[in-house]
Amino acid sequence: MSRYLSPTLTSLKPYTPGEQPQDRSYIKLNTNESPYPPATAVVEAIQAETGRLQLYPDPACTALRQAAARYYGIDPDEVMAGNGSDENLFFALRAFCDKTHPLAHADVTYGCYAVWCGLLHIPEDVIPLEEDFRLDPAKYYGRGETIVIANPNAPTGLALPPEEIAKIAAANPDNVVIVDEAYVDFGAESCVPLIHSYDNLLVVQTFSKSRQMAGARLGFAMGCKELIADLERVRSSLNPYNINRMTLAAGIAALESTGYFNETRQQICETRAWAAEQLARRGFELTDSRTNFLFARTDRMEGGALYQALRDKGVLVRHFSGPRTSDWLRITVGTLEQMEILMARLDEILGGP
Ligand SMILES: *Cc1c(COP(=O)(O)O)cnc(C)c1O
Repeated sequence: MSRYLSPTLTSLKPYTPGEQPQDRSYIKLNTNESPYPPATAVVEAIQAETGRLQLYPDPACTALRQAAARYYGIDPDEVMAGNGSDENLFFALRAFCDKTHPLAHADVTYGCYAVWCGLLHIPEDVIPLEEDFRLDPAKYYGRGETIVIANPNAPTGLALPPEEIAKIAAANPDNVVIVDEAYVDFGAESCVPLIHSYDNLLVVQTFSKSRQMAGARLGFAMGCKELIADLERVRSSLNPYNINRMTLAAGIAALESTGYFNETRQQICETRAWAAEQLARRGFELTDSRTNFLFARTDRMEGGALYQALRDKGVLVRHFSGPRTSDWLRITVGTLEQMEILMARLDEILGGP
């Protein structure tokens, strides 16, 4: 820290991303990326765009928003593209919260929400999940604050049905309810159709988890056109060219590659079921994950120690310190082969299945 850092930022605690080691090759089950390569059409679209890098990209992202509108059955002015959903979530907090407009979120959820509150000086209203990590929707009624809910939640993997989100939106008519659907494609139901019934509902999705594009940085925010206009105001005040040419082209191609999208997410769901059963057989306790990761703990070894032992054996998973999560591991669902190796390493560490 230099002596020039703004005093308002000295207590800021930045987000710690999952490790992206560059030294040796690990079986990487720690950041919920897809184990599969991008669709062929995505790679071709990116290659075709590289010859035009001297030109700025379309700041309105017109073609991509039209493709999104067709895909989701909404209007182009009901969707905005962000540089990953992280950027859209940040823009939403900048637009709908400030010093006197707090953000309500769960105690065990995506860590960036708290980090952005620190950066933007937004007070947090932290609402504890139940003992078993379920989210009780009634705790979100009549909050009088902007709300963000990851649905399915991370790292717990649990999902609420859209009817429950609808009730939360209805019970907070004067505040925006943000639904972060980073994992919705792995077996939960999307709230996008609800944006036409609730003008305070903002749904955020990403290409990072289910569309093999974590490295391209792309996500959508979807809501009524007034909410989207508010986000556009923030975006155009910070970085009007937030989506680069290659990513714009890749996004359109990914939306059109529906066959590959469905095959890969289906495969992930099948592998998830296999891995969950294998872990249960080994005495692990698991949540009912609707995502591309499993959230698991065992009495046989403490979470942090198991994380380290797996790391030493070349398998990276995610461990979150913190009172409610320190005993648990978040394990990305990789290929079946990767999950077989995980089980073999676990058996070595725990001394048998
Ligand atoms: C991965 C993730 C994000 C961020 O996604 P990007 O589009 O890669 O920025 C946001 N929210 C949750 C809950 C996530 O797991």
